[in-house]
Amino acid sequence: MDVLISVDMEGITGVADRSFVLEDQLNYSLGQTLMESDVNAAIEGALEAGAKTVYVTDAHNAGHNLRLTNLHPEAQLVTGSARPFPMIAGYEKVDVAMFVGYHARLGTSQAVLDHTYTSRLRLWINGTEAGESYMNSLLCGHKGVPVVLYTGDQALANEVNSFSPAAYNAVVKSSWGRSATASLHPTKSRELIKEKAIEALKAWQNGDIKPIKTTNPVEIKVEFIISEMAEQAAVLPGAKQLDPRTVISVQPDIEMGIRAFLSMIALAKAPLF
Ligand SMILES: [Zn+2]
Repeated sequence: MDVLISVDMEGITGVADRSFVLEDQLNYSLGQTLMESDVNAAIEGALEAGAKTVYVTDAHNAGHNLRLTNLHPEAQLVTGSARPFPMIAGYEKVDVAMFVGYHARLGTSQAVLDHTYTSRLRLWINGTEAGESYMNSLLCGHKGVPVVLYTGDQALANEVNSFSPAAYNAVVKSSWGRSATASLHPTKSRELIKEKAIEALKAWQNGDIKPIKTTNPVEIKVEFIISEMAEQAAVLPGAKQLDPRTVISVQPDIEMGIRAFLSMIALAKAPLF
């Protein structure tokens, strides 16, 4: 059994606001330490459940947050912006995946640092509103890889239950707003994540958790916060601007769909006003 652990930062134990997730801010190095603690728990769980290879993909910003020297020695760290899908780089090489430190999609109430890639758009995949957890789970599902465990706040767990009810959640904190949380201590969350990782991998081995999929073709709909961004995104070949702020692109499958989505984000560089 080969396992991918994709690690974002906003849903990590103790992370409450921007000061933990931006490199130049007060709590960033504490954020890194907490991130390493959560991911080490998931690695230990995976190993105990029988994993042979464990890839850890650093999924936050440019992928330069986890420090290799602080990780469990049996894991391999994937860092930097491996294309085309840097958040889940390695997903095509494994049997099963776990998402650690994930967060709710933009516009969720009582959710720490909710966003969808940026905080300037909403995304729908075949009519279902999507955040990063759903989007990346579909990409894994396309390769037959199920995501068996998600760790983050209670808002993430609610979101995951809507598209993958059989998957396991480790809720490490409850959100008291977009920039406020009551968090478990890392000693406690480490126990919780390890235990849930073992249970989730066993459930998958018993056939209880399946990869999630969508239908083909895949319609990607993106609503930007200002019309100039939609105009820029609609430059993508084949894309159509539906209304001043909304662009759609229809693609043969989810991989092409998410490539279209990432291309739109790269094109839409409008200033804030
Ligand atoms: Zn992030």
